[in-house]
Amino acid sequence: MNSIAVLTSGGDAPGMNAAIRAVVRSALTLNMKVYGVNRGYSGLISGDFFEMMDRNSVSDIIRRGGTILHTARCDEFKTEEGREKALKRLSAFNIEGLVAIGGDGTFRGASLLTKMGFPVSCIPGTIDNDLPYTDYSVGFDTAVNTVLDAINKISDTAGSHERVSVVEVMGRNCGDIALFTGVAGGAESIIVPEKSYNINSICKSILESKIKGRKHYLIIVAEGIGGAERIAEKIEDMTGIETRSTTLGYIQRGGSPSAKDRGLASKYGCYAVDTLHKGVISSAVGIKSNKVFHIEIEEALSMKKVFDEEMYNIFLRLSL
Ligand code: ADP
Repeated sequence: MNSIAVLTSGGDAPGMNAAIRAVVRSALTLNMKVYGVNRGYSGLISGDFFEMMDRNSVSDIIRRGGTILHTARCDEFKTEEGREKALKRLSAFNIEGLVAIGGDGTFRGASLLTKMGFPVSCIPGTIDNDLPYTDYSVGFDTAVNTVLDAINKISDTAGSHERVSVVEVMGRNCGDIALFTGVAGGAESIIVPEKSYNINSICKSILESKIKGRKHYLIIVAEGIGGAERIAEKIEDMTGIETRSTTLGYIQRGGSPSAKDRGLASKYGCYAVDTLHKGVISSAVGIKSNKVFHIEIEEALSMKKVFDEEMYNIFLRLSL
């Protein structure tokens, strides 16, 4: 393989730049040409956005959030004609393989491309950590740290006013951000899509904590549950303690990537390039027990995310 392309697609995540840098530089060490495709699959279809990358194209990006290649959603890529167009563009540039960095949707598009015979290696880049085949995706650790920083600030003022804080964090179908920040932030309760919850027992636990001398209370709600404001109103009604809700929103997607995400993205980028270089047609790169590996993209997509019960039990034990 002499020439590959790299793109970022779907929702952005901190560390995508570090992954692009690793793809470009590791490919150069194997004497491969690397093209950056702007705006995800849209750029692949339009073909106007190819840019040959060298060592300097990725200088000083490892520390930057977002993605220098930009990202986009592209419905046309969901059609066979759209993907045919993309393949024509790739062949016009003599590009023989692609590294696609993104989430679940990006992987679906990539899998369809591999079925048309084109080699793709996928790198998980999503703050939600909702890809089931891997322990971690790029961006998750940074998002957790961003949330913790926000929680620290919110808890300062909640402590001063002796309030309950309800904080809504991202995670549509996956409560990992809520779970990890709940443990690390010493939350009273976490409400995640994977577990049912009971507002009465949450209020009971707040009141019990009050008796034990607690001055403020942190409840983390995953986005998938919705309605942090409504939950806050109920808690205030039922406990009589002043309660405020905060939805953190997009700040969770930005920021300079953590050391862990930079390291992970660097490992994934090198591994993805090696996989293409070895001639693997379909690979989803991931990490399990600190070991980088790959499986077929379709297999990765067919798996079901397993909730981290061990972490959840630790949370329950320590929040008593
Ligand atoms: P993410 O990769 O973060 O999950 P999206 O779900 O928006 O983000 O997917 C990113 C892009 O991947 C879409 O805009 C589309 O171009 C492509 N894609 C998503 N689902 C499919 C699908 N079923 N078939 C083909 N392409 C898809």
